[in-house]
Amino acid sequence: MKESTKDVRRRAARIVEQALESLHRSGVTHVKKLPLPPPAIPTAAVTAENPSRSTPMPRSQGKKVLPSLTQIAQLEQSTDPRCRELGNVAREVSDCTRCAELARTRTQTVFGAGNPSARLVFCGEAPGADEDRLGEPFVGRAGQLLTDIIVKGMKMRREDVYILNILRCRPPGNRTPSPVEAAACREYLDRQLAIIQPEFICCLGACAAQNLLQTDAAIGRLRSKMHDFNGVKVVCTYHPAYLLRNPAAKKQVWEDIQMLLAEMGMK
Ligand code: SF4
Repeated sequence: MKESTKDVRRRAARIVEQALESLHRSGVTHVKKLPLPPPAIPTAAVTAENPSRSTPMPRSQGKKVLPSLTQIAQLEQSTDPRCRELGNVAREVSDCTRCAELARTRTQTVFGAGNPSARLVFCGEAPGADEDRLGEPFVGRAGQLLTDIIVKGMKMRREDVYILNILRCRPPGNRTPSPVEAAACREYLDRQLAIIQPEFICCLGACAAQNLLQTDAAIGRLRSKMHDFNGVKVVCTYHPAYLLRNPAAKKQVWEDIQMLLAEMGMK
């Protein structure tokens, strides 16, 4: 049944209220609760089944509410149980301080994005500067390349898959995550995968492959074959950021993606 404009506005107000409450819980006490701004919010932006990226960010005293908090509120409001479960974990992650340095230097946590019932999950290393700013994984130049692989190479949509990282916080200067940090964040990765229940995981780069599969083998040895992770088929390939520096490696990535598509019955 189609929601009335009044219902949509009421639901939007709840989302804004939750985001502001989350800010308060995070210790930002100077942000006051404000009435919802007068312009109408597009229905699609607040439909629970369609957590749109175009949702207007609530503003308060000239400061933007962090995108990740708005995303969490949308997940929590969803009618899809998997979205709500992911929202619960994402809420926990947003306050996480297990890695003291990362918790101090991050702008926000970057939980993951995509279809909560995806057959295929892409797993990268950690958020970079763009991801830290926008609260979503793979949104910079490497992210555009990953989108090209999904859309042009696999003939899928980015919304069909789920994308996450080994770490949910940006390491300063984009350094490689330490083993201690990867171990600390592993619980969240496992919980996300347990909720999504993908059939396939594609590890992007050595960090993702080695941490997921708990091996120290080089990515060159891990790629081009199928692995098993608790019954989930895993393909490992080079990270899109590596491809930006070494375009010649696109050939190997293409071979890995072809192998993955064949396993998925899409070739
Ligand atoms: S990287 Fe993971 S474990 Fe470390 S502080 Fe961030 S959310 Fe917590």
